Amino acid sequence: MTTALGIEGAVRSAQEYIEKNQKTVAIAAGATTAALVTAYAWQRVANYVPAKGKYPVGTLPADAFEAIIVGAGPSGSVCGHYLAKKGVKVALLDKEKFPRDKYCGDAVCTPAIRILEDMGVLKELVDNNEAHFADAGGFVSPDGTSYIGASKQKLGQAACCALKRINLDVRVARCAQRSGATFKEGFEVVSATFDKAAGLWTVASASGEKVLGRVLVIADGATSKLATKLGYCTEAPRGVCSRAFVEGGTHNTNFDGVCFYPKWSLPGYAAIFRHPNDELNYCYYLIPCGNKPGQCGEVNEADLARLHNDAIKNDPFISAALGPNAKLERMRAAALRLGGQGLTTTFDDHMLIIGDAAGHIDPLTGEGIHTAMMGGRAAAETIIDMRNTGDFSKQSCKAYSRRWYKAYGHDFFMSQKMAEVIHRYPILLDAMASEMQRKGDVMMSKWAEVMTNMQPKTYFLQPHVAVPLGIAILREFLAQKVFGKPDRYQLKKSI
Ligand SMILES: Cc1cc2nc3c(=O)[nH]c(=O)nc-3n(C[C@H](O)[C@H](O)[C@H](O)COP(=O)(O)OP(=O)(O)OC[C@H]3O[C@@H](n4cnc5c(N)ncnc54)[C@H](O)[C@@H]3O)c2cc1C
Repeated sequence: MTTALGIEGAVRSAQEYIEKNQKTVAIAAGATTAALVTAYAWQRVANYVPAKGKYPVGTLPADAFEAIIVGAGPSGSVCGHYLAKKGVKVALLDKEKFPRDKYCGDAVCTPAIRILEDMGVLKELVDNNEAHFADAGGFVSPDGTSYIGASKQKLGQAACCALKRINLDVRVARCAQRSGATFKEGFEVVSATFDKAAGLWTVASASGEKVLGRVLVIADGATSKLATKLGYCTEAPRGVCSRAFVEGGTHNTNFDGVCFYPKWSLPGYAAIFRHPNDELNYCYYLIPCGNKPGQCGEVNEADLARLHNDAIKNDPFISAALGPNAKLERMRAAALRLGGQGLTTTFDDHMLIIGDAAGHIDPLTGEGIHTAMMGGRAAAETIIDMRNTGDFSKQSCKAYSRRWYKAYGHDFFMSQKMAEVIHRYPILLDAMASEMQRKGDVMMSKWAEVMTNMQPKTYFLQPHVAVPLGIAILREFLAQKVFGKPDRYQLKKSI
């Protein structure tokens, strides 16, 4: 009875309030509706894709291609394959003759494994013993807390796979070729000019050969000379990474993949991945963090050789994994362009930029093979749509940017923030490693899922992950600051 009276009272006072403030309520309701309608209309206009354009299939000159892809790395070749498979007339150009090496950590994440499976390339790699699926793996935190577990069983699949780029890239490129792409090797692109009236690109090689095409796909890697020349890329890449293969049978490593986070190079890290035949790939990633150009936390590109070489002898964990007799190749290094750094756009009239050329590398992990492949497929889907409508305008090309953002781009902001947080608060990684030691492979698998892009970084914010992690951070803080937990990550000799 009391409750009923209470509810009646509340309804009455609400009615009275509305009657008294009828005009204000009406204005607020009207403004909200107008805002919603405007937002909806704006969204419709912004995402509008013309249904018909000037260039249906029959308008293509006989000597021209519907798409020209510059660069036959994972992004370009995947794009070429998915286009050719749908009957699109496509030219895939690369300055190198394949097989060719590419400096890389060779850790290929699940989304890329799925694409390779779909293309039929994974089977080829496995049948030729060129793939090693990671199971035993983990990481060493900045204070030397380590966990190495097995993730395959918990995840129902390997979170990543080690594939040498000299094998991977040629197989993906040849697959595109088999699907119908015209693959021109040794074709170093030196210029690309767009004839707006004809709706055609002319792409020229260093030797003077010319290729005509309706759409240009720029896939020439992190230093993208073409995107720079055309004005879409305005900065040099800010990240860098080393690589050295280690001869099988000369090292002490018994795991498949481990990341090492020495505190002096955070948010960068070193990684060791096992290939078939017991060979290893040892890499040192310097991840951009800070406001100055080239700044990667407390270090920069000039420090890479010192960090890479010193860790082999003096890092307590890396030197133990490699052992005293490890036979390493000379250090190689290449640039990392992360999180879209330096790009003004990834699309324009009759033009798309994909993979490293677009800066599509995760800003926390430095991994970009899977994003290159997903971006390549997104570009192919967009070109196929445009071919159907005959419209290749900037507005139609924009659909590609929505696709890559939805597939992986939405994660870049969080990755960047996480890199900054790890740089400032290494204790977060210590807490994560301690939590893995407590909870075992369940926690380790969650980490692996996020670091290999099976889950977005926001996964760490979900209550079932964030709450235990919050408690672990508190526990770690007490362990380090109150109970004096020893720091086990000290160099044997100072660098
Ligand atoms: C040392 C290092 C370690 C890395 N480790 C990992 C890792 O473990 N896992 C991971 O996922 N990612 C890693 N990455 C990132 C990964 O290598 C890239 O994200 C990936 O190669 C991007 O593919 P892409 O096709 O966009 O570019 P690329 O693989 O760079 O291919 C570009 C192609 O364009 C061609 N090209 C360039 N210029 C021209 C021209 N003018 N004309 C014609 N062709 C041209 C090149 O010959 C090349 O074949 C690492 C990168 C580095 C540098």
